[in-house]
Amino acid sequence: MTLLEQKLSFDRIIERVEKARLRVNNHHIVKIVAASKYVDADAIRSLYAIGQRAFGENKVQDLVSKSEALDELPIEWHFIGTLQKNKINQLLSAHPHLLHSIDSLELAHALNERLERENMNLRALVQINSAYEATKSGFYPEEINEKYAQIMQECPRLHLQGVMSIGAHVEDTALIRKSFETTRRIYETLPNASICSMGMSGDFEMAIEYGSNLIRLGSILFPKI
Ligand SMILES: *Cc1c(COP(=O)(O)O)cnc(C)c1O
Repeated sequence: MTLLEQKLSFDRIIERVEKARLRVNNHHIVKIVAASKYVDADAIRSLYAIGQRAFGENKVQDLVSKSEALDELPIEWHFIGTLQKNKINQLLSAHPHLLHSIDSLELAHALNERLERENMNLRALVQINSAYEATKSGFYPEEINEKYAQIMQECPRLHLQGVMSIGAHVEDTALIRKSFETTRRIYETLPNASICSMGMSGDFEMAIEYGSNLIRLGSILFPKI
């Protein structure tokens, strides 16, 4: 893609996000995190050059290497993948802006311990498996309120900001809607939660309709890969 084509394609996506958010209301602001797992540092640099500031990786090694390669740019890095406990040190060394994917109490405790030792804090979201899919990580809707409260209480180095969820991986849009609605309903009950991270390339308009204020867009932003 030429730079012009890339700009036009990016503008069309922003336009779609804008229309979707205005259908909620004028004050509903939606942040775009570019899921850059499909691309290298140069492609991130070109999207940065046309205005994108937040990028998310789903592998710790990629977050580390790309954030080092792009050290000169004030990029806001997000970690959106499943985090293995043995990758915590590496993750923290990259100083991510937000971790989207706390999916167990064990992980929360391990993170808190490491943060304590390094005298650091970390913004984080708790992942909800609102589609009840065995292949997905996250807490089930029935347990999330209790676990969220427990993490807040027992892991003071983790600054919980809300929830992350991946929409149901099905063709049936009614089921996708249902999973988004479940996430939104839970999000609204959580104390001091301000981030509802849901919606990807194939379902972001629907996610915004259900209250998402952070969408993670990958393939649609990097179409030729
Ligand atoms: C890859 C990825 C995305 C983006 O997916 P697309 O369908 O390519 O937009 C969003 N969230 C997570 C957790 C991902 O791993």
